[in-house]
Formats: sequence, C-alpha cells, structure tokens
Amino acid sequence: MQINIKKRHGGSKFFTLHSSLFTFFRIFAVENFKYHIYKFKIVMVNYKDLGLVNTREMFKRAVAGGYAIPAFNFNTMEQMQAIVMAAVETKSPVIMQVSKGARNYANATILRYMAEGAVAYAKELGCEHPEIVLHLDHGDSFELCKDCIDMGFSSVMIDGSHLPYEENIALAKKVVDYAHQFDVTVEAELGVLAGVEDEVSAAESHYTKPEEVIDFSTRTGCDSLAISIGTSHGAHKFTPEQCTLVNGVLVPPPLAFDILHEIEKKLPGFPIVLHGSSSVPMDEVNTINQFGGHLEAAIGIPEEQLREASKSAVCKINIDSDSRLAMTAAIRKHLAEHPGDFDPRQYLKPARENMKKMYIHKIVNVLGSDGKLGQC
Ligand SMILES: [Zn+2]
Repeated sequence: MQINIKKRHGGSKFFTLHSSLFTFFRIFAVENFKYHIYKFKIVMVNYKDLGLVNTREMFKRAVAGGYAIPAFNFNTMEQMQAIVMAAVETKSPVIMQVSKGARNYANATILRYMAEGAVAYAKELGCEHPEIVLHLDHGDSFELCKDCIDMGFSSVMIDGSHLPYEENIALAKKVVDYAHQFDVTVEAELGVLAGVEDEVSAAESHYTKPEEVIDFSTRTGCDSLAISIGTSHGAHKFTPEQCTLVNGVLVPPPLAFDILHEIEKKLPGFPIVLHGSSSVPMDEVNTINQFGGHLEAAIGIPEEQLREASKSAVCKINIDSDSRLAMTAAIRKHLAEHPGDFDPRQYLKPARENMKKMYIHKIVNVLGSDGKLGQC
C-alpha cells in the first residue's frame, strides 16, 4: 500500500509513514475506548444489582442465634446448582465462594453471571428472598479484591496472614476502605492455617494470638475475622502420627477452643470465621478408593467439633474438600459401574446429587443454619 501511494503521488516516504501511523493510532484509540466503555457499562457492576447480599446482617443473626453460615467453594455449574438447591430446600442463607484459582479456572465474567443466575435460580425454585453472598476466598492483593468488588462480589477476604503484623493491618485497611464505599464486607485473617488450598499453602500453623485481635479488628475496620485454632486446608489435615486411634478410627487433636473463647471475650459478638473445616467423610474416601482412586490417610475435622464451634461467635465455616470428595466419589462410582457411559450428564447428575446431599447434611446437622432466612 505504501509503495502504491508513493508511486501514484510520488509523495515522500515520510508522509506515507506518518499517515499509516496516524491511522493505526486512531483505530487503536477507538478500540481502546470501546473496551473501556464495555468494561464500565457491562462488566463493572454492584452486587446489589445482581440480587446478592453482603454478610453483615446474616452474621449478626448467626452470632446471636448460635449457628454458622455455610461457605461452600465452587467452580462448576453443578456445584453451583447443588449449593442453591440445598440452600433453598433448607431455607438457609449461603455463601458461595471462589478462590483466585477458581476464578482463573471459571473465568471472572462467567462467574459474575453464575452468581446472578444462582439468585434467579433460587427464586425459580420457590425461594422469594434468597440470601446469597458471592465471596472471594483468600484474596492475596488489593488489586484482586478491587477487581472482584468491581465485578459484583458482595464480600471479599484479604489474606495478609503470612505478612508481618503491621503490613497485614495496612493491606486489610486498604481493602476495607475501598470495599466499604460499595457496602461490600471484608474478612481478614490473623494466624496461619497449615495445609494446601489452591494457591494458599503453609507448612505449619500458627494459632491466632488473642492479645492481637482487638487492635487488629479496630485498626483494619474488617467485618469478620478468620482465625487459626487447629483447622487446616485440604483433605490431609493431619498425619496419622498426630491422631489417636479410637475404635479403629484416627481421631485428630481437638480444636483449640480455649483460644476461641479468649477471642470471644476480647471481641464480644464479633463475627469469627473458620477456614479448612471439611470433615473428610470416610464413606466418600472409601468409595473413591474402592473405584480406582488412591487417597491415603485423608483426615478432616470431626463434625461434632464444628457443631460446637457453630454455637459460639464462629458464624462462617468454610467447606471445600468435602464437596470435591462427594463429586469425585460419585463420578468414580458411576463410571466404574457404567463403563460404556461417555455423556458427561450421565456421571455429573449423580455427582450433583451427592454434593447436594452433603450440603444439606452440613446445613442441617452441623452448622444449624436451616430455616434461618430473614424472610422466607
Ligand atoms: Zn481457607
């Protein structure tokens, strides 16, 4: 094109180059502008426009009522459907949470529509006033939290627990200052949990120091506090050596309820969060192993201890691994029993059913959040 112009007009190379560059930058500027308009108009959204709620009211009721709200991690449509069906059937408020890894897996835009879809689906199932929170689990930077808030999350966690104390405070405060402008609630963490969960991992736990909680919550302005009292991430929370053998079952060391009670005394009525609280049900582990899996020494938190914790100021309990186990067990069983099946619906349907059963069990028998919607 440049050569043609030059030949036809005999113009300078200099002029030709400039007009090409001008055209290029003009197109670039227009496209860039269109992208920002798209981002502003379509992608940036407040959670209230999606029908979601933040955690403030539900935590207040949970602390006063002696129960806990389930926080179930999800990345697939089947998990989301199972969570919504379980919450509607039990009339429970629910927190649907995604980690950074899950957000990368599912795509941030799709997630926003899934959350909006979850609310519409709950209404379609007959729940007129669902209380669904879309929460970021283990946000590791201000930028990630801001991006989630801008894209419809109603609650975020900023996890600076691996940082020195003052840096953890500064980071949490920065997120709180931004989030509260949009009425988004913020969970922060003090103390370190052991275990591996997506991109979060720590070799050993450090219990929360009760003497720090007043200073930390006051200076950060956080809405809830995740603490470390002996729970941990993943399906292998303890080594067999850490456990005691009781009637052929490995029982892990108890949670540090003394630390929890001390924290409750320092912060009366303040919402406390427990991470890493899957129970790793042995029937699911056995099913996985029976049908070709190989899960060794998977040990979780006994449900009685979580039930006990739910009665305290612990008002949010995170459960991820149990859902993974329920899904995997059902899929392995189905495929082993029906080796000719290859339609994903054939094995994802029982997987969804099994997860729903597990979610209902947690809500009714462990956390006690059934029938606790503000309005039915
Ligand atoms: Zn966690």
